[in-house]
Amino acid sequence: MPIKENVEAIRERIANAAKRSGRKAEDITLVAVTKNQPVSLVKEVLKMGIGDLGENKSQELLPKQGAVGERVNWHFIGHLQRNKVRYIIPFIYLIQSVDSIALAQEISKRAKACGKVQDILLEINTSGEASKHGFAPRDVFSVLNEVNTLSNITVKGLMTMAPFTDDVGLLRSHFAKTKELFDNLTRVEASNVDMRYLSMGMTNDFEIAIEEGSNMVRIGTAIFTP
Ligand SMILES: *Cc1c(COP(=O)(O)O)cnc(C)c1O
Repeated sequence: MPIKENVEAIRERIANAAKRSGRKAEDITLVAVTKNQPVSLVKEVLKMGIGDLGENKSQELLPKQGAVGERVNWHFIGHLQRNKVRYIIPFIYLIQSVDSIALAQEISKRAKACGKVQDILLEINTSGEASKHGFAPRDVFSVLNEVNTLSNITVKGLMTMAPFTDDVGLLRSHFAKTKELFDNLTRVEASNVDMRYLSMGMTNDFEIAIEEGSNMVRIGTAIFTP
């Protein structure tokens, strides 16, 4: 079972990247992305003391949540259809992939019906690629103004996905731009905005993302691949 060795290696790489950016390993949250993995392997990950799991499809998330129970913080990281919101709202910890005002409205409405205030991240399409979901950076201030009228969500930060490239310079500038946006938004005073999480970095780029200021990485392949 390579999961133990993989997680240990990833933790060490996270700690080193955090150090390079003047922070500590504890400042970075590792979200283990369990999409396409069976419940048996999800349980192996939990044995490693990981408390945050990410899924990108509600139909995969629901049975896994049922199987492992309430022990973990479940993160939703994929494109979320509005008609699926009500199924995940009762238990979801953080919806990282809010990419439209209409989705934010639906989340607030369903959260209200459950008697909870739902933490969300706004997904940012920093690269402007048409294939990616998310708000354009220039629209984010007006988006915050709109979501500030919604009673049952709190905007906890931003999530982004890097462009599909090996060009380290390009990756770095993508992450740096998103960090700059995050820092600017930190100064926004709004009742339901509490900028804490900058979720960026996956298997192929998480060290660069951390060096550029990420405090939450979403890792799948590096955990589950021998
Ligand atoms: C699959 C996925 C990840 C994890 O990607 P890996 O390259 O397997 O680490 C992270 N974020 C999102 C949104 C994903 O869909």
